Amino acid sequence: MVVATVATSQKMLEEAKLLARSCYQCGRCGGACPMAFAMDLTPRQLLRLLQLDLAEDALRSNSPWLCAGCFGCSFSCPRGVDLTKVMYLLRQQAAAEGISNKSISFYREFVAGIQAAGAVYEPKLMLAYARRVGPEAVLPHLRMGAELALRGKLIFRPRSIAEKEQLGGIIRQVMEDGER
Ligand code: SF4
Ligand code: SF4
Repeated sequence: MVVATVATSQKMLEEAKLLARSCYQCGRCGGACPMAFAMDLTPRQLLRLLQLDLAEDALRSNSPWLCAGCFGCSFSCPRGVDLTKVMYLLRQQAAAEGISNKSISFYREFVAGIQAAGAVYEPKLMLAYARRVGPEAVLPHLRMGAELALRGKLIFRPRSIAEKEQLGGIIRQVMEDGER
């Protein structure tokens, strides 16, 4: 995963706060966000926390880690706030500070799986996730997993791509770049 040093990330947090200043709390970004339903704080609420200098609460939120980077919020903002970039900056800062939550754990396991095989193997991903955060976090998803399996949407054999080493190298390079 991309991890900045704490010193670098402090600059990132300051940049995020600067971007948040223009927000006038209309909430259009949340309406445009395809992931808002799963976020513990809406994009608007995250920006408000930054405006109020309550960054710690923003950093502990799962919202930046669920952001799909689709730019829907940034394009819909009447004030031109680059919220997609704010999400990215908050992820960097949280990673540098070693902050952990379930979404971060999932993100780490997902990236590790892609780096190793070039493809997601869902059963392995969920086992690794359960090991990190405890089985109770996975149990609510078992029914959905069973439904997916019944429809043939889950494949119970490990997958990998021919170019997995090249892809793993690219991911490693991106991580190292993030540390600089
Ligand atoms: S759309 Fe823009 S101004 Fe409105 S709440 Fe979101 S970031 Fe703030
Ligand atoms: S970039 Fe992230 S926060 Fe913005 S609309 Fe897309 S998923 Fe939501």
